[in-house]
Amino acid sequence: KNVVGKGNDVKREQCFIAGNWVSNGEWVSVDNPATGAIIGRIPSLGRPETRKAIEASAQAMQDWAARPANARAVILQRIASLMEQRSDALAALLTEEQGKPLAEARGEIAYAASFFQWFGEEAKRAYGEVIPGHMADKRLFVLKQPVGVVAAITPWNFPAAMITRKLAPALAAGCGMVLKPSELTPFTALAIAGIADEAGVPKGLFNVVTGDAAEIGAEFLENPAVRKISFTGSTAVGRLLMQGAASSIKKLSLELGGNAPFIVFDDADLDAAVEGAIQSKYRNAGQTCVCANRFYIQSGIYDAFVEKMAAAVSRLRVGNGADPGTDIGPLIDERAVAKVKRHIDDAAGKGARIVLGGTGAPQGPRFFTPTLLRDVKPGMDVLREETFGPLAPLVKFDADADAIAMANDSEFGLAAYFYARDINRIWRAAEGIESGIIGINTGLISTEVAPFGGVKQSGIGREGSRHGLDEYLELKYLCLSVA
Ligand code: ADP
Repeated sequence: KNVVGKGNDVKREQCFIAGNWVSNGEWVSVDNPATGAIIGRIPSLGRPETRKAIEASAQAMQDWAARPANARAVILQRIASLMEQRSDALAALLTEEQGKPLAEARGEIAYAASFFQWFGEEAKRAYGEVIPGHMADKRLFVLKQPVGVVAAITPWNFPAAMITRKLAPALAAGCGMVLKPSELTPFTALAIAGIADEAGVPKGLFNVVTGDAAEIGAEFLENPAVRKISFTGSTAVGRLLMQGAASSIKKLSLELGGNAPFIVFDDADLDAAVEGAIQSKYRNAGQTCVCANRFYIQSGIYDAFVEKMAAAVSRLRVGNGADPGTDIGPLIDERAVAKVKRHIDDAAGKGARIVLGGTGAPQGPRFFTPTLLRDVKPGMDVLREETFGPLAPLVKFDADADAIAMANDSEFGLAAYFYARDINRIWRAAEGIESGIIGINTGLISTEVAPFGGVKQSGIGREGSRHGLDEYLELKYLCLSVA
């Protein structure tokens, strides 16, 4: 068995349906965003195969849901252990298809595995309730039962963690799942399916289908056996799925776009704020939905912050994620590069100044130099749209209330960050900012033990924490009359 090693050790070029590795003779190729080289191919499946996967999952779920939670937990914990053992190979594969630096890929695999550990434990704590009866003869109980087969659709920016954050609680709750991963990063998903199979997940319970997103999505939405859609991706596609789910009233969990504000108040520890800003902004080359997208810096410290931030950004090294020492890998595709350029051009055209970067990078067409913009003002596209690239726009503000108002001037509300020391200011900002997640004096907020999710158009539901399990459970109220 391959315990350590290269991406090829865990790469599979077939889909996993009803416990079998399948293909249909039609293929989609997958490339390495750093080099453009084709690294493999995946089947282009459609509705019939998706339907088969859903049926297999519904069938397998019957036995799975009936097992005691601790029996399910043993298997989830085995998946976590196998992922940790194969971390090197999985990380290499992830970097090859997604582009992020190897150290970040390793971190993602550990984070992804942690959900199996956590939800394996939480499965045992899906407590019901006994409610004092409302009449002398009544005894009232609440059971928690699995919602049913879950259809999951995931993006390319976290090819492992966005899957396991759904799969682990679904399996823990007793649900089955059919997953459509991003066609840009399918190999990590298929490798996880291989590991789940090896760990003893019953045949058919977890399926991975690749192919045309709209066709597979249509089967997910129309098949009555699918009781829940769990999606991470763009707000546009989330809206389509929400509309589609309306016809059969399927439950929804949506993790959509963000537009995270990062506020630095004038009493902040500036060095810590710069460190947090770099971590939040430039991780995964700026391609996370919780990346700081717009920076609001109080006027008294604005110039000092710009200077320190510029020094830190200039130290970031651009390169192939597979090379040790790379901080900023490629963007996922050239469309992503064009969006960063468009935001810079729009801002520069409206009076912002480029402090650093502003151009593509010599490593190839999908690389972009880490960029810092100053004198950014309301009305520039970069403050309104999620850039999803290595670009930090710095806005100056005077009064605290202005910063909070500007932070809230967005249809999104996933993550927000701020740096301050005064306790009253900290509470005012924490309570006033409209966001599902707030990092206070830190740029790193993700953990399996805390609820992750957004308000406003950033989504519905929470992933991770004990609340993440409830997303896959239904309440059943029993009313017993005692003679
Ligand atoms: P991103 O901008 O992050 O690529 P998308 O929302 O386009 O975000 O993609 C996220 C996931 O949604 C991917 O797996 C993609 O294939 C899938 N997807 C895109 N369009 C549809 C659709 N019409 N129906 C179902 N899934 C879709």
